[in-house]
Amino acid sequence: MESIDPGKLNTILKGQKGEQDLITALRRVRAEYGYVPPEAIALIAKALRVAQSRVYSVATFYDEFRAQPVVEQMAKQGSAGRVDEQILTKEKMVVLRNIGSINPEDIDSSIATGGYDALKKALTSMSPGELARVILSSGLKERDSGFPVGGRWLSLAEASAEKKYVVCYASDKEPGISINEILLAGDPHSLLEGMMIAAYAIGASECYLYIPSEFTLALRRLELALKQARERGFLGSKLMSTSFNLNIEVRDGPRFLSCEPEIGVIPFIEGNRASPRISPPFPQNPGLWGKPTFVGSAETFYSIPWIIQKGPDAFSQYGTESDRGTKVLALGGKVSHTGIVEVPMGMSLRQLIFNIGGGIKEEHKFKAAHIGGPSGGCLPMNLLDTPLAPRSLAELGLDFGSGSVIVLGGDACMVDLAKILVHFTFEHYCGACAPGRLGVKQMLDILTRVSQGEGKEEDIQRLERIGSLMKEASLCAMCRAASNPVMTTVRYFRDEYEAHIHEKRCPAGVCPMSQA
Ligand code: SF4
Repeated sequence: MESIDPGKLNTILKGQKGEQDLITALRRVRAEYGYVPPEAIALIAKALRVAQSRVYSVATFYDEFRAQPVVEQMAKQGSAGRVDEQILTKEKMVVLRNIGSINPEDIDSSIATGGYDALKKALTSMSPGELARVILSSGLKERDSGFPVGGRWLSLAEASAEKKYVVCYASDKEPGISINEILLAGDPHSLLEGMMIAAYAIGASECYLYIPSEFTLALRRLELALKQARERGFLGSKLMSTSFNLNIEVRDGPRFLSCEPEIGVIPFIEGNRASPRISPPFPQNPGLWGKPTFVGSAETFYSIPWIIQKGPDAFSQYGTESDRGTKVLALGGKVSHTGIVEVPMGMSLRQLIFNIGGGIKEEHKFKAAHIGGPSGGCLPMNLLDTPLAPRSLAELGLDFGSGSVIVLGGDACMVDLAKILVHFTFEHYCGACAPGRLGVKQMLDILTRVSQGEGKEEDIQRLERIGSLMKEASLCAMCRAASNPVMTTVRYFRDEYEAHIHEKRCPAGVCPMSQA
């Protein structure tokens, strides 16, 4: 183990002055040593003038600062469907409109396709209230938490505070799935424009953008896009010669925030452990540094300039009565074509797999579609006509989660899959609340036992009971949704659980007992 030279560490930490710089300081130390050595804690605390306990609690919380990085279980065990980075949709609808057709490193290329026109329109001819009402009538809902964006803007615009913030999180929630990475690297300006319009609508003067450090290309292009936007007068003081001032800061960090990102991103930016707080009715109350804050996923922000330019009706023509617009998905697994796709909300799973994905690969047979990663669930053949929209998925016990749709063939074991997904949550949750912490651990213990041929008669009922309790009592959506893979596999593939428990047999030949 390399010993720490205080002089060298002080050089590494140069310019980092307060607790708001804690994450940056930890990242710099990790970049130098490969992890955060215990001896560095006191030196960081001294340099930033914060308590050692504070530095220790944050350093030990995030995976990326630990001495031994957490293994990406899903990727390691081969269940995550690594999705090709090609765009499958022929018609580039809303969010993917510029991906592949502009030069993301050249602002003029973005401007030539209408980039920053919506910002200009908003700043020069619309009041914040008008903007919010346009977004409200388009039906745009925040793509993760599902609340109406326009309604949230109206209430934030009315809040009186000396400072307000806009926060965007652009993490992908599943290893092997890189929707946000592709969006940010392919079209950074549309994201910035969406954040700028949101800031104007609620009266914010500062925006933060959280992005995983490992998205290096996207990070580089975002920094370049910010520089170019500042040079053109789209950021900084008196935007586009109006009285509106705005700054956007990028904060890169760990890929997984240990609780749902829309909640964890606020303490992360504040330099704290990403533990959730009880904050009804909106997960972002109280906001960043206790101030009114609009928090949204990258996909949500990409839709905003498009709606302002094309009008709310153009957006609401896509989708279902309850879920308007489009959804970006990552299609993978045993389909002929895998990649990133944007579809109208409500397209059926069958259309996605057979019309866009080209059907099942020749040597395979459809067994299930695993939707949404660790917080999603599995649907069987008889539910192939399910509309892909939040409401219809929720009725079947799952959600869009990470946005992945992985097609599974006959060689997949549903008990093993549920175990891997719960294990993923176990490795990444924050453990702050008992229902989440104990529920995930108990589910994982049962699934491990069942997969080893040691399942007990009552295990299926116990899984269902624990899953229901987690849904009712967990503090945030991360563990509430962690039961989805278990509940849906128990519901739709119960015979597989019964074969493991009663016959000590894994029908797919995947679990350890089959290899004995
Ligand atoms: S549900 Fe509880 S344990 Fe799970 S991530 Fe949220 S706060 Fe942490």
